[in-house]
Amino acid sequence: MQKDIFDRIIVFFEGIRQQTGEYLYFEEMPEQFEATAVPKVQKTEERTIKKAPIEAIKIEESKIVEIKQPQPVIATPTLLDEKVAPDWQQAKSLDELLNKIKDCQKCPLGITRTKFVFGEGNPNADIMVIGEAPGADEDLQGLPFVGRAGQLLTKILESVGFRRQDVFIGNINKCRPPGNRVPSKNEVEACEPFLLKQIELIKPKFILALGLTAANTLMKSNYKMGDIRGKLFNYNGIQTLVTYHPAALLRNPNWKKPVWEDMKLLRKLYDEYIEKTKKE
Ligand code: SF4
Repeated sequence: MQKDIFDRIIVFFEGIRQQTGEYLYFEEMPEQFEATAVPKVQKTEERTIKKAPIEAIKIEESKIVEIKQPQPVIATPTLLDEKVAPDWQQAKSLDELLNKIKDCQKCPLGITRTKFVFGEGNPNADIMVIGEAPGADEDLQGLPFVGRAGQLLTKILESVGFRRQDVFIGNINKCRPPGNRVPSKNEVEACEPFLLKQIELIKPKFILALGLTAANTLMKSNYKMGDIRGKLFNYNGIQTLVTYHPAALLRNPNWKKPVWEDMKLLRKLYDEYIEKTKKE
């Protein structure tokens, strides 16, 4: 009974955090959206991404936000650093990178994890989906987004014609924070260089950041979701959109509608990119 109450409290505050960031922020609730089911999955042809019919969405120039080049994050060395190959930054492929960092224990999450969750998907993906950190299912399987939230993410991608295996899915942190707590600043800073290396190797054209931890880590900011949703960010030349984490959608179905709008926008931008590259 007591555990149930604590679980409810945790769910409540996690909802607040998704909406407002790492600090409590009180304001009138924005206009409530009707709960809208994520549209039915579209079938996609083998090895191709089907163009999804979507309504036109205009992005005002003022909504495109330039992000300053992020400074490389230097993780604080610890006695356990030798578990990462010293030349990991020279990795030429994702497989090589994985082999060089999979035993990492640069932060305390390395001690409590069951499995290292590197991420998975197309190593040459045009779209990279980045979440916060593995959860319980991911920690057990060593794969990203395989629990309930992950299944929802797969449906969300498919709803606009993207197959899970066509994108690359990863997290800021490669190891699960105990109890699914938010990774600490030090843990994020220790792990972020690996993500930056993954981005460097994959060279995505688009990043979809899921939730505020992923977004604010990439942007070196402390935005609230309301500040950044629906806007296009330029992250080192990569078009970046932010939407709610699927785990947040499971708790608050009212956020399905904004996520659907974000996904349609991503699809539109991707189709425009494909059209442009065909002409070149
Ligand atoms: S979370 Fe990242 S930095 Fe921390 S131990 Fe895991 S791989 Fe290393």
